[in-house]
Amino acid sequence: MKRITKLTHKFVKFIPETLEEGTLYVSMEHEVVIHKCCCGCGSEVVTPLSPTDWKLTFDGRSITLYPSIGNWGFECRSHYWIRANSVQWSTLWSTGEIEAGRAADRLAKKEYFGGPGAMDDRSKSESSGCMDKAVTKEGLLQWLWKRLWR
Ligand SMILES: [Zn+2]
Repeated sequence: MKRITKLTHKFVKFIPETLEEGTLYVSMEHEVVIHKCCCGCGSEVVTPLSPTDWKLTFDGRSITLYPSIGNWGFECRSHYWIRANSVQWSTLWSTGEIEAGRAADRLAKKEYFGGPGAMDDRSKSESSGCMDKAVTKEGLLQWLWKRLWR
């Protein structure tokens, strides 16, 4: 089996009965993208488009799907990203990697609340007359800050 790295896309009204390998069939009418698994196993991958499923980006030339395609249900268990009509092969995330991702997320939140963003927040609250709330929120953040980062 040959892994596919380049894709072409077709905007279709209806999904054809037989799918060609290396082709993304995009049906805006049915809010779905269908393609044959890029590992070459022949399984048909259906990715519904919705706020809680996949998002499609079309830049006029190529298609990007978010998030990644994880075919856990197939025998091949392939996992890849479709970015600008090319397939970027991924590996399974280990528990350690998931933890690292979560830690990075926590750090981003810490920087958001402790950085210049916090000041903007306060001035906004002041101008709208929510002074009490702002003070309470800031006090809580300072308390958290001391507890977590001392
Ligand atoms: Zn496959």
